[in-house]
Amino acid sequence: MKTTQDFQKERLSAGQKVGVINLGCARNLVDAQMMLGRLKKNGHRIVNADEAQTVIVNTCSFIEEARKESIDTILDLVELKKQGKIKQVIVAGCLAQRYGKDLAKEFPGVDAFVGTPTLNRENMPQQMQLTPKHFAYVKICESCFNACSFCAIPKIKGKFISRTIESIVKEVKELDAQGVKEINIIGQDITAYGMDVYRQKSLARLLKELVKVIKNIEWIRLLYAFPSHVTDELIDVIAQEPKICKYIDMPLQHISDHILLEQNRNITTQQTFELIQKIRRAMPQGFVRTTFITGLPGETDVDFEQLRNFVKESRFERVGVFVYSKEEGTLAAGMKQQVPEKIKKSRLDSLMQDQQTISSEIQQSFVGRTLKVLIEEKEKDSSETYIGRSEYDAPDVDGVVYVRSKKPLKAGDFVQVMITDAYEYDLAGIVE
Ligand code: SF4
Repeated sequence: MKTTQDFQKERLSAGQKVGVINLGCARNLVDAQMMLGRLKKNGHRIVNADEAQTVIVNTCSFIEEARKESIDTILDLVELKKQGKIKQVIVAGCLAQRYGKDLAKEFPGVDAFVGTPTLNRENMPQQMQLTPKHFAYVKICESCFNACSFCAIPKIKGKFISRTIESIVKEVKELDAQGVKEINIIGQDITAYGMDVYRQKSLARLLKELVKVIKNIEWIRLLYAFPSHVTDELIDVIAQEPKICKYIDMPLQHISDHILLEQNRNITTQQTFELIQKIRRAMPQGFVRTTFITGLPGETDVDFEQLRNFVKESRFERVGVFVYSKEEGTLAAGMKQQVPEKIKKSRLDSLMQDQQTISSEIQQSFVGRTLKVLIEEKEKDSSETYIGRSEYDAPDVDGVVYVRSKKPLKAGDFVQVMITDAYEYDLAGIVE
């Protein structure tokens, strides 16, 4: 599979106007930032995709839905090329990494399929930041060595790699010096960080190093924790360090022992309960974001009822639910007792319905309280209303806080907001 460097050398004449369309997750976004950083360093002009001569689509291949979105985007770009509106189409990312050769036959109008970049353990290449200036994603490791039966990511991303602590501290110091206020620590499984390079789970150690060097950065947020890799030491660091958001994103995927085994999640029902209790004790005001899958092959009504009761009782603050997607080359794809789509979907609907009630109640409990909010932007057509996030809102996936302020505010400002109204997922309030 070609790399972006190969393509550059061979086909991209200097000074070309290049733009990227990034699909998929925050980890893919960091890959796009690395690609653009390299293109810029090599003299190419980075512009918005709708002004570009060469458009890179950074694809996602996680589940069927994501693949469809990627294919539709490729088709649109090939059509634009046919109309002479753009000169070149480059397909990068997970879909290219996984199916590049087949797609090359299917889409002769595409100029190149380039695989996903390999994470460099010591030296992170210069990135061109695609997020707003006040927050950034920091990818600390790539791929994962868990083998969840429903997931194709390890096959796409290859060997698990952790960056060195020095490399991450260097990147975070640069972001801090640039005035970034929030960093989101990402990977496929950030809680496995260091198990290769340091032969032990080292996320807690990394966080202790990061809090020592940051000045402008006020929030460090952890995304994509793997339940059975969450250590007591990590829970303590999150609970005790003021600059680490009291927020943990930890996909649980299910709760019944039968399905946790079928998913190969390496954790039991009892261990999951104990882990949640530990987190709740250490961070009584903390938020837990999690996701569940409905309809894994073999999931019975009993398994699902157990999951439904668990979600009701645990009252997670943030929940996402996915229907099981049969992924080529995964263990679960070959399992018998595939669950009909209709049942998968109705189970997802009932879980989300339960969660909407829980989420509204939790949101309501913030009325009358004061929250620290990071301002993201001014609300369109409004003179006094801004949109921000609290430490309980991860970018792009959680809710927002609508902030009324007579004083002009700008992106990156932190303000104390008295919450006056609550909605299903969002809050509203006034600057104190
Ligand atoms: S932890 Fe499991 S679901 Fe997540 S990327 Fe690894 S194998 Fe996939």
